[in-house]
Amino acid sequence: MGIVFPFQNYMEPRGTKKGAGKLEAAEPRNKLPRPAPSLPTDPALYSGPFPFYRRPSELGCFSLDAQRQYHGDARALRYYSPPPTNGPGPNFDLRDGYPDRYQPRDEEIREGLDHLLRWLLEHRGQLERDPGWLAGAIVTWRGHLTKLLTTPYERQEGWQLAASRFQGTLYLSEIETPAARAQRLARPPLLRELMYMGYKFEQYMCADKPTGSPDPSGEVNTNVAFCSVLRSRLGNHPLLFSGEVDCTDPQAPSTQPPACYVELKTSKEMHSPGQWRSFYRHKLLKWWAQSFLPGVPNVVTGFRNPEGFICSLKTFPTMEMFENVRNDRDGWNPSVCMNFCAAFLSFAQSTVVQDDPRLVHLFSWEPSGPVTVSVHRDAPYAFLPTWYVEAMSRDLPSPPKTPSPQD
Ligand code: GDP
Ligand code: MG
Repeated sequence: MGIVFPFQNYMEPRGTKKGAGKLEAAEPRNKLPRPAPSLPTDPALYSGPFPFYRRPSELGCFSLDAQRQYHGDARALRYYSPPPTNGPGPNFDLRDGYPDRYQPRDEEIREGLDHLLRWLLEHRGQLERDPGWLAGAIVTWRGHLTKLLTTPYERQEGWQLAASRFQGTLYLSEIETPAARAQRLARPPLLRELMYMGYKFEQYMCADKPTGSPDPSGEVNTNVAFCSVLRSRLGNHPLLFSGEVDCTDPQAPSTQPPACYVELKTSKEMHSPGQWRSFYRHKLLKWWAQSFLPGVPNVVTGFRNPEGFICSLKTFPTMEMFENVRNDRDGWNPSVCMNFCAAFLSFAQSTVVQDDPRLVHLFSWEPSGPVTVSVHRDAPYAFLPTWYVEAMSRDLPSPPKTPSPQD
């Protein structure tokens, strides 16, 4: 069976086609009220073969410092530095430093795509080797694509994605749902501490220099981030997205990003086969989606005991994660994730027809329902900043002149 396109009604009527208006006048049938477009998310609809996904390549990177200031370089990149394997095994106290050495990022500040847009503005000249590539691309955060990949299996949290077309490019930026905001503001103290523990694990596993060792005595500041900017393509959708990368492994078989990158995670120690099964079904799905998209090959997991200590480590190769649920009737399927994402991107591309940075199509989804769309202009949903729109509307700065063979 081939790929099912349950949204094909919406592929055809692009109101921009020449003569479409005339056709409607001649064909009263087209005047019948059309149901509001929506996209179903049931896994069964997306179980075709795995779609084309271009091997992600890194276009560049940027860093955010302790004050959340942007730098167009890799200064925030850290180096994978696990404890020696012959030694006694890890004994990381993840609660150490909480809350006195914790500087959490201000989650009230809505950054949208701003940092990624700054990178794009400063590097658009370099993309023009392939003229017109950007105009056909989708620009977003990796984390937004992760949410799309896991949507067919998600039973808890909905999402909202704002979409605007500008100079051909489709930009997608998440809007925090009212439920997510309420949950964040009411986050229980134990959950706050658990979030800290995830960052603390990174500090135990990473050094600031390729040959250095971790220094867990310092502060944990979650303003700091290293972000890789990647190019890929899903089906016929060219993608430019950025994702935060935990560290690079100086000993990795390939020193070429993203193959040298490592994602770090913590999880509760498991004791029963039932706990492992549930871990494979739920956590590995999210981990797979997040790391598969940018081509990060390994997820190194620290298992914590009830006292908050990491006592064992395990590496999960991204490309082997699916094997743990391949024969599980209640498992997840990478094809479903990728086919749904491709279907959503087609749905978004055919819905957002007008090129206007102030116009927003808001795609909303709640578990068990379809993706629906509403249309808005300007505040509060418009997310492409004036500085970006104005700079992109001016001419490209001319590249530094280098003598060419013909000169
Ligand atoms: P992830 O895959 O969900 O971790 O997100 P990305 O890697 O796509 O990160 C995109 C940008 O969002 C980066 O600048 C991150 O520092 C930032 N970011 C990641 N997670 C969060 C979050 O939970 N809240 C906020 N406000 N920003 C986040
Ligand atoms: Mg991580």
